[in-house]
Amino acid sequence: MHSFNVGILGATGAVGQKFIRLLRRHPWFTIKALGASKRSAGKTYKQAAHWIEDIELPGQVAKLKVSTCEPAHFEGVDFVFSGLDSSVAKDIEQAFATAGIPVISNAKNHRMFDSVPLLVPEVNPDHVEMIKSQDFTADGSGWIVTNPNCVCVPLSMSLRPIFDAFGIESVVVTSMQAVSGAGYPGVPSLDILGNAVPFIGGEEDKIHTEPLKLLGTLNSNGTVTHADFGVQSTAVRIPTVEGHLLSVAVKLKEKPSDISDVQKAIEDWKSPIADLDLPSAPKQPVKLYEEERHPQPRLHSARENGMQLGMGRLRTGSVFDISYIALAHNTVRGAAGGAILNAELLAEKGYLN
Ligand code: NAP
Repeated sequence: MHSFNVGILGATGAVGQKFIRLLRRHPWFTIKALGASKRSAGKTYKQAAHWIEDIELPGQVAKLKVSTCEPAHFEGVDFVFSGLDSSVAKDIEQAFATAGIPVISNAKNHRMFDSVPLLVPEVNPDHVEMIKSQDFTADGSGWIVTNPNCVCVPLSMSLRPIFDAFGIESVVVTSMQAVSGAGYPGVPSLDILGNAVPFIGGEEDKIHTEPLKLLGTLNSNGTVTHADFGVQSTAVRIPTVEGHLLSVAVKLKEKPSDISDVQKAIEDWKSPIADLDLPSAPKQPVKLYEEERHPQPRLHSARENGMQLGMGRLRTGSVFDISYIALAHNTVRGAAGGAILNAELLAEKGYLN
């Protein structure tokens, strides 16, 4: 049993609100401090946030004062979660790490730094070791850990068993992304209602690079050799609220004799954190649906508290070896829930003490 006081940076945004929802009954983590921009600072959280969650705002958080994101306002917290806008996350997160306050971040800014773990506990838990090569503080007390882009979470989780069993030559992915992925207020309603927008700025570059770090190999000097397959992507915004749906095609290094070999590799795969019994870890991290019309964002993205990856429509192809659909809850598994699971892993491994 662990007990930590936590702060949330970017607490008023879509991801910040999801942190507040998911942490309200967390057995290890208690929210003690909230940070956002100058627009929100000085107000109570209830006054500052335009609450968009479908539960009542938890009472003790409603009363907390929001401050600007400076380490001096976060004294007494053991670490912070960051749901900061990427335009400001780099400097603020580094200031916290330098002040000896660990940062567990959703923002893109530090994901590809050589010494920063880009972490999905079921995919690459050994990468937490990279923290040891960070030098924000002389005594190692301040560090940064990131979770990937919300498409790269389902992509890397679905590729992990396939990569381990067959090796991968190339991946083509089209992501159909929910509007909550753009934060609040996000995409203008006239652009997205009854429509789809076949471009999401900056998204495809992340999808081309982050999976290679996630599936990379940790070296003894704390660096990661990235996986060496190619990824080509198209990111499309669609008028769903939560849950990013991916259409994935994969060329494999070793050819399976039959699609049932791939199905077996996915179903037999065991999560490397299964035995740690972390509070937010889904019992079944990857669910392979047999029904042709599943998984769907509205029906399946909230399974296992939004932490389960759905896969379906697994099939062979004439151009690529296999194709499938993957689905994950973007603001839970792809953001706040993923970061909380990262924190649980780091607590269990002794990095937060
Ligand atoms: P959002 O709704 O726009 O929220 C942004 C947050 O950043 C707000 O709390 C805002 O505070 C704060 N902020 C903005 N400017 C600031 C400043 N100058 N100083 C301090 N705080 C400032 O965005 P979001 O969707 O929650 O995303 C947050 C981060 O997570 C982004 O980096 C995003 O790329 C990443 N992410 C999002 C998702 C998703 O599905 N939404 C998934 C994965 C990763 P105010 O309210 O005071 O302006």
